[in-house]
Amino acid sequence: MVPALEKIISESENMVFFGGAGVSTESGIPDFRSVDGLYHQKYDYPPETILSHTFWERCPEEFYRFYRDKLIVKGAKPNAAHLRLAKLEREGKLKAVVTQNIDGLHQAAGSKTVYELHGSTLRNYCTECGKFFDADFIANSTGVPRCPDCGGIVKPDVVLYEEGLDEQVVSGAVQAIRKADTLIVGGTSLVVYPAAGLLRYFRGRHLVVINMQPTPADEEADLCIAKPIGQVLSEDVKLEDVG
Ligand SMILES: [Zn+2]
Repeated sequence: MVPALEKIISESENMVFFGGAGVSTESGIPDFRSVDGLYHQKYDYPPETILSHTFWERCPEEFYRFYRDKLIVKGAKPNAAHLRLAKLEREGKLKAVVTQNIDGLHQAAGSKTVYELHGSTLRNYCTECGKFFDADFIANSTGVPRCPDCGGIVKPDVVLYEEGLDEQVVSGAVQAIRKADTLIVGGTSLVVYPAAGLLRYFRGRHLVVINMQPTPADEEADLCIAKPIGQVLSEDVKLEDVG
């Protein structure tokens, strides 16, 4: 707990949380943008290239190999940050979570209003007939996953590089940020556009940044906290309390 943050939370009635990869790393989900050397040993291209629309079209086998290996994470559980945010929503203080993450952990923690700017690995659709498939279907498939009904390629509902964001998701996120009295930015270095550009819609009272590294928003922020976000938001919220 950080007293200065708790004071802001206690004074706020209409908070929005804007988060990125750092929120999920404490749940054991690696940030695919971080250079861990593994990519260089196992893949011929950087993750940004593999996770592009062009690459998905041209080299689907390599795309799905990387996707299964790096983006589908089995057994990940919400951490203290996810749980606290869900609790703040139940208390009526937090109105929305806007996330760049694709792991569904906010919903798993109990959050209801979640704008997933980059989609979700939990949803997959046949590109021909639109049939829905869960994450296990992709995880258990080999090569290029095909729809058992029509043979179409099954594509994750994840926004790839070169693809636009979903307009409804963006407009929901913009409206929530516009109305917010407090915006907490967490676990993101705010380098990925257009998602990071959403912050400019914020007109509220308190901007809080929780991130291990400096961000472009630090200068405008009322409060910057360079600590692990689970630790910062932790309030001894347990998964059992979620109900
Ligand atoms: Zn199909």
